Amino acid sequence: MTATASPLPDLTARLLRLLGPGSVITDPVRLRTYECDGLTYHRATPAVVVLPETAEQVAAVVRECDAAGTPFVARGAGTGLSGGAVPRTDGVLIVMSRMRRILQIDIPNRRAVVEPGVTNLAITEAAAPHGYYYAPDPSSRQVCSIGGNVAENSGGAHCLKYGFTVNHVLAVELVTPQGEIVTLDADDPGYDLLGAFIGSEGTLGIATKITVRLSRAPETVTTLLAAFPGVESGGTAVSAIIAAGIVPAAIEMMDALAIEAAEAAVRCGYPAGAGAVLIVELDGPAAEVAAQFTRVRELCLSSGAFETRTADDPAEREAIWKGRRSAFAAVGRISPAYLVQDGVVPRTALPQVLAGIEELSARFGVRVANVFHAGDGNLHPLVLFDDTEDGAGERAEQVSAEILALCVAYGGSITGEHGIGVDKAKHMTAMFGPDDLDTMQLLRCAFDPRGLSNPGKVFPTPRLCGEAPGVRKGVHPLVASGEAELF
Ligand SMILES: Cc1cc2nc3c(=O)[nH]c(=O)nc-3n(C[C@H](O)[C@H](O)[C@H](O)COP(=O)(O)OP(=O)(O)OC[C@H]3O[C@@H](n4cnc5c(N)ncnc54)[C@H](O)[C@@H]3O)c2cc1C
Repeated sequence: MTATASPLPDLTARLLRLLGPGSVITDPVRLRTYECDGLTYHRATPAVVVLPETAEQVAAVVRECDAAGTPFVARGAGTGLSGGAVPRTDGVLIVMSRMRRILQIDIPNRRAVVEPGVTNLAITEAAAPHGYYYAPDPSSRQVCSIGGNVAENSGGAHCLKYGFTVNHVLAVELVTPQGEIVTLDADDPGYDLLGAFIGSEGTLGIATKITVRLSRAPETVTTLLAAFPGVESGGTAVSAIIAAGIVPAAIEMMDALAIEAAEAAVRCGYPAGAGAVLIVELDGPAAEVAAQFTRVRELCLSSGAFETRTADDPAEREAIWKGRRSAFAAVGRISPAYLVQDGVVPRTALPQVLAGIEELSARFGVRVANVFHAGDGNLHPLVLFDDTEDGAGERAEQVSAEILALCVAYGGSITGEHGIGVDKAKHMTAMFGPDDLDTMQLLRCAFDPRGLSNPGKVFPTPRLCGEAPGVRKGVHPLVASGEAELF
């Protein structure tokens, strides 16, 4: 901490008294470390950053923010891809990275109790010696925090078979926006408030302790790599596999541009000339996996695959996954900047939507690489642009918006697993009408009536829940002044 003047001097002084100088950052240069998450397109420098080490400290910070009417934003590892952890220039950023203890690995009850800053992979590493693992596996699992996973209801390659974060969280201790410490448990009778909290993107409070389900490691895992001439035949194979009643642990697809990027970065050695590759992973009892493998391979070949490879041991499997896991970062090798999008379509619409993306790419003259969770119909188009070129960022944004509109037109969604954040708040109206958004606000206001917990995220414009949650009477002064709008 340096003695630089803070834009929130009174609050900062109180936070310093509470946490001590080693846990409060006001130096403008150090504050810039926290100005964005993994989607670097959106940036804001926080007024002050705090690094609490206990739930009590988080609660004390939140109570100070509440008393001062100052907004606050929680941050895990900052790998989010929708600008969810983008700070407020007039607010406090509460960074959870010092709360990273694994409190309990409880094998008889198949659960682990962890602090929110623990990385996703660390839970699996702690459970592995007992033959267990934590199933949701974002590609960022080495670094992203479990608190961020809960806030985003994160997914990952294996969520096709095992479900998203919401299916693996048993309890969350959280600090409410008023600074109270409460616990939501899956066993609580009444409304599923735990379910509501998971995926709420930091707008309902801050998770300080998380109990997750541990899963038994499967007897066998087999991974198939299939190379196709293009994404359409790859998409056809995905539909055929699911239609055959097989639910692989994962089905991932990469198109030609994504393969080019991955080869340039990690030399993954995928088959030459592939316009698309599918990675299909099967797990479970050995006999079942063997039978399903034969069928999956046949379906890939009959859908147009020109080469298949198999991996049975961990090293071979890692070689196949290496290209896929590195794909987002690898795209940096072939483009100075890019936007990562996240949309969902019904699996059967994959070939049409991918063709639509190709058409948009040609029409706007913008390259789009596709690397995605094909089994879930969860697309991740990477829209490439040169950030030194005038108007290129805006064009990339327009292509992203058109891709999301395409997903919605085919009956899909504007996000599969990366959340809405600041990036997609404006697209919420593509899926939800005013009454839907008001209903969501009623829930938000029940937790956070003053709208101090991660404001400006998820909802399209300031919403009016401060005084009378969800019930509008007459013209609100903020509407009259033009500072907020009603839908
Ligand atoms: C290379 C790469 C690959 C990725 N792959 C995947 C993938 O396969 N699947 C997937 O779903 N995502 C993926 N992501 C996105 C990202 O990793 C996830 O969204 C992850 O859950 C974010 O965790 P984080 O700790 O980095 O959270 P942050 O980015 O720090 O925050 C994300 C949101 O969570 C809130 N938050 C953080 N901690 C807390 C807390 N303790 N309590 C309440 N709210 C909190 C923040 O306010 C913010 O709204 C990927 C990202 C990258 C960079």
